[in-house]
Amino acid sequence: MEMSDGAYGKELEVAARAVGRAARLCRAVRLELKPEALSKEDSSPVTIADFGAQALIGEALLGAFPSDPVISEEDSAELAKPENTGLLTQTTRYFNRVAGSNEREPASPDAVRRLIDHGATAHASVRFWTVDPIDGTKGFLRGGQYAIALALVVNGRVVVAALACPELEAGGTQDAPGAIFFAVRGQGAHVIHESRVERIAANARRIGVGTSADPAAVGYCESVESSHSAQGESALVASRLGIRTQPRRIDSQAKYALVARGDADLYLRLPTRKDYREKIWDHAAGALLVEEAGGTVTDITGRPLEFHHGRELVANQGVVVSNGRIHQAVIAAINAQR
Ligand code: AMP
Ligand code: MG
Repeated sequence: MEMSDGAYGKELEVAARAVGRAARLCRAVRLELKPEALSKEDSSPVTIADFGAQALIGEALLGAFPSDPVISEEDSAELAKPENTGLLTQTTRYFNRVAGSNEREPASPDAVRRLIDHGATAHASVRFWTVDPIDGTKGFLRGGQYAIALALVVNGRVVVAALACPELEAGGTQDAPGAIFFAVRGQGAHVIHESRVERIAANARRIGVGTSADPAAVGYCESVESSHSAQGESALVASRLGIRTQPRRIDSQAKYALVARGDADLYLRLPTRKDYREKIWDHAAGALLVEEAGGTVTDITGRPLEFHHGRELVANQGVVVSNGRIHQAVIAAINAQR
């Protein structure tokens, strides 16, 4: 594979390694700490793993591409509160364990906070990165799937994607979970095991979407969370299409990975409320991955996702991801249903 020789070779290597390190941190946190001990209870959970992963990615991007803006899901405001000193200390400990090289001093809590806030950009620009340090935090907390998502957007188009799915098998000869999916626009979609991310060119395998052209014969996936996707409505759309199997419900952009490698042909994300706008970091990496695997990604009206409006996909409603061949039939069924 000639990935690293093509356009965006350095960006890809930096991104894939960064999400690989973040995946190691998340796995260590989940193994060693009880979720109650690390989650703040409000409507959207955030954990020290979210902060630690975002700091690792911030460090990698700052080191390699210091002038690139970064739009990340989290910021360090919560960690700065006196009552959360313990969480900041823990975040810093995990950060140093994974980032730690022999050459440099361990980072201080303040330095870790600054790395988290390296992703504090609010506005889109000609070239920027977008980060979801843990996509599917609810899945992370309940022992399900989660993902670390990093994407580079240039002139409004996603051009590089790296998506770590620490609990998904990479396939091939590696049994242990720890898949890293990645794509560069025009260069295809690939998967590699976390343990081999230092040598992408030698170890990555190309992936592609499924080939089914019969909408009735496909399997679909959707969010575990009924507040994130209208599951009742997607069941009606599925039955309109003649789909008889139950949906596969899994958390995070791992759903995009399933479609990209042909484990599912369809991912439905139908809006639960009219005023919700999807966040760019929940879709940028997954969308390029599926497109480069030969699939199609649009909103529920069939419109392409627009990543150049800032933090949200303000021009889109919901998301439909497919192997491409069945896409028009799915959009028509959604249209008829609504
Ligand atoms: P999933 O794991 O597919 O359920 O997606 C998780 C993501 O859903 C989180 O990162 C949130 O940003 C996003 N989310 C939160 N509320 C909603 C909502 N009402 N509709 C769609 N997505 C949401
Ligand atoms: Mg997310």
